[in-house]
Amino acid sequence: MKDLEILKSAIRDVPDFPKKGIIFKDITPVLKDGKLFSLAVENMTEPFRKQKIDSVVAIEARGFIFGAAIASVLNCGMVPVRKQDKLPYKTHSVNYALEYGTDTLEIHIDAVNKGENVLVVDDLLATGGTAQGVCELIEKSGGNIIGISFLIELAFLNGRKRLGNYPIHCVLQL
Ligand code: AMP
Repeated sequence: MKDLEILKSAIRDVPDFPKKGIIFKDITPVLKDGKLFSLAVENMTEPFRKQKIDSVVAIEARGFIFGAAIASVLNCGMVPVRKQDKLPYKTHSVNYALEYGTDTLEIHIDAVNKGENVLVVDDLLATGGTAQGVCELIEKSGGNIIGISFLIELAFLNGRKRLGNYPIHCVLQL
């Protein structure tokens, strides 16, 4: 099997989690295997290696795992985006669409400076609402979005169309 096929086959489907009808893509078997984790990080980083990136902005919670590793590879900073009331300092916030209803994401007001080049990272692209919210927060801060990198894309949900013209990179289509 090719590397990416091995990586793909390590992602575990968990039906009806966290609620009925959702097939949860469990990445913990990838994290557990050093070679696969590093393969995932390398492939998520690859298209952006030669670009000038000041910060990786990563989304709570699984985005932090890949975001921190990618920031370390790119030798740049890492900025957390979190759900409402989790960040300790002053924040920008944005409401974003969930499958049913809305939620709020926040970023520290001084986390991304005007004109900084940012790479957005999360584990999985589903409807695109979360990444769209993060992009709004970066735009509010004056950051320049160089691209968005995901390990997994649930292509049938067509989340890409919500992310406009930002360069989107997904390692695996499931
Ligand atoms: P969305 O905003 O619909 O693109 O959802 C993306 C966010 O929800 C990411 O942070 C994912 O970690 C999480 N997510 C959505 N659907 C799934 C799924 N089927 N398996 C695992 N995580 C998911």
